[in-house]
Amino acid sequence: MTLTLDGDDLAACVSCGLCLPHCPTFRATGDEARSPRGRITAMRLVVAGGSPMDAPFVDAMETCIQCRGCEPACPSGVPFGRLMASTRAQLAPHGIRRRVYRLLAVPALVRAASLVAAVGQRLRLVPSDRLGLPRRLPLRRPALAASGTDVWLFTGCVMDAWQRPVHVAAARLIESTGNGVALPPRGAGCCGALADHAGAADEARRRALATMAAMPGDAPIVVDSAGCGAMLQHYGEAIATDAARRFSARVVDVSTWLTEHRDQLPPARPGHVRRTFAVQDPCHLRHVQGAHGAVRTLLAPYADVTELDDDGLCCGAGGAFSIDQPELADQVRTRKLASIARSGAQAVVSANPGCSVYLERAGIEVHHPVVVAATAAGLVEGDATRGR
Ligand code: SF4
Ligand code: SF4
Repeated sequence: MTLTLDGDDLAACVSCGLCLPHCPTFRATGDEARSPRGRITAMRLVVAGGSPMDAPFVDAMETCIQCRGCEPACPSGVPFGRLMASTRAQLAPHGIRRRVYRLLAVPALVRAASLVAAVGQRLRLVPSDRLGLPRRLPLRRPALAASGTDVWLFTGCVMDAWQRPVHVAAARLIESTGNGVALPPRGAGCCGALADHAGAADEARRRALATMAAMPGDAPIVVDSAGCGAMLQHYGEAIATDAARRFSARVVDVSTWLTEHRDQLPPARPGHVRRTFAVQDPCHLRHVQGAHGAVRTLLAPYADVTELDDDGLCCGAGGAFSIDQPELADQVRTRKLASIARSGAQAVVSANPGCSVYLERAGIEVHHPVVVAATAAGLVEGDATRGR
């Protein structure tokens, strides 16, 4: 088997090592093979033909969380995410994994599987941690209905099944600014992010084309999942058509959109008590979209925030990483948990479903920032501002 990568992308690395402190797998292991520089060196050796794609090579690639924390740290502008995505696509996930990603394209199946798992959890028949599931899947979801055509609210697959209250909070906040919310058709499903993360490029492309078709027109596409937002913004480069580039240009993270309309947002409800939250910046918001600052602005009228002291290191969730590499993911999460403990905050805000589920499984109270804001403003009922 051969590996083909862009020669200019590979050559851009000057092996300075400045990225190493920003790599969660290197920080957790101290192993050069699990650093960005080590991984690029391994890619170069294989591409040059002198080294096989053997087990150590595959291990070095599969232990990368694809958090892209190394990219903003790199003075040479090495497009590490592109190199790793191409490598993973050529390593190719095995058949069963591909079939699971195809199921994500059918929301009714995702919901049915979630419901079965939710019942199984209550009967103590489901190993939630091993399957990467939230501790308590919902049996029911609150209603979510379209209210206009001003902005699309992307709903996705797993998040709509597991965290529908986040979509409801996002919709109520958008509507409070005087804008109506359009929703993708019921049959629209996954954006392709999980398939792309695992190197299933053909399935990711199919999902991208279907997602583009589900939200036509010129209205902004607001996304409340950092990973999905990064994927939708990536369609322009991945599909490389004018239509895909126009689509990606319409995609905006929900906190960014709301802060652009903050003069129309309601104040905190009477009697609201401000809580302090530690902000966990999802990698796909901070390193990929560069849009993490807006969460602080959105929350300012409703809550106090405290910053973590780990410079935005990944929490270890990484799509299906915590299922594929549970021990390494746990080592990475342990560092995040220590940073949260040092912050002194009782609860965390995170704008990505994978991160919030993974941190909750370690006993952390986690809320989406839009849920905190909408609850404080009295737009939805909930316990986000009171604690559990
Ligand atoms: S993407 Fe993340 S885990 Fe992978 S090499 Fe870069 S910093 Fe390390
Ligand atoms: S990826 Fe960038 S920061 Fe890391 S070793 Fe190469 S040039 Fe240096």
